[in-house]
Amino acid sequence: MHDDIRKALVVYGKKMAELTVGSGGNLSARCPGKKLIWISPTGIECHAMKTDDVLGIDTEGKVEVGSGKPSSEILLHLALYRSRPEIGAVVHTHSTYATTCACLHLEIPAIHYLVGLAGEKIPLAPYALFGTAELAEKVSGVMTESDAALLANHGLVTVGKNLAAAFNLAQQVEFVARLYCQCLAIGKPKLLDRSQIQQARQKFKTYGR
Ligand SMILES: [Zn+2]
Repeated sequence: MHDDIRKALVVYGKKMAELTVGSGGNLSARCPGKKLIWISPTGIECHAMKTDDVLGIDTEGKVEVGSGKPSSEILLHLALYRSRPEIGAVVHTHSTYATTCACLHLEIPAIHYLVGLAGEKIPLAPYALFGTAELAEKVSGVMTESDAALLANHGLVTVGKNLAAAFNLAQQVEFVARLYCQCLAIGKPKLLDRSQIQQARQKFKTYGR
């Protein structure tokens, strides 16, 4: 089971390069009901990460399996697992358009029904220095009603029931962030109203089942 989750982290670590440039961000996953959290290490780019580089940590961040230092955003990952016990994965990236909105301190309203994959909107967490408990607290604070958040002057975080869900959400949020930037460049987007986005959210719950 440990091997499966580490392999999945390696697979999605490679895919992180599709979302951004440079180190690609960081990601983690845990099995339902299990104590250990598996996280990408610091100092190795996500796309170059191998199975043995993936670290198993406890809920306090202590390394239990593997050698090396966990991602510099370990506190952010831990805070999300604490505040959202139902989630199984966290993805953090500096994808271009989501980060553009984050630099403008713009949350993303319901410009497109796909926003509903995350919540009624994609909220913005106020700025705090990367890798700090303050950042972790601010981000988990705005993610009680949303599976995604923009981090002011920093990037994007998504959560999901597993890595596939969290990664897919990061891709979709990057897409709607791009739409939002393009809409704002041309005019003022027409927003879905609350009942329309709630309807989309409801439909996502049963979609494909
Ligand atoms: Zn970051």
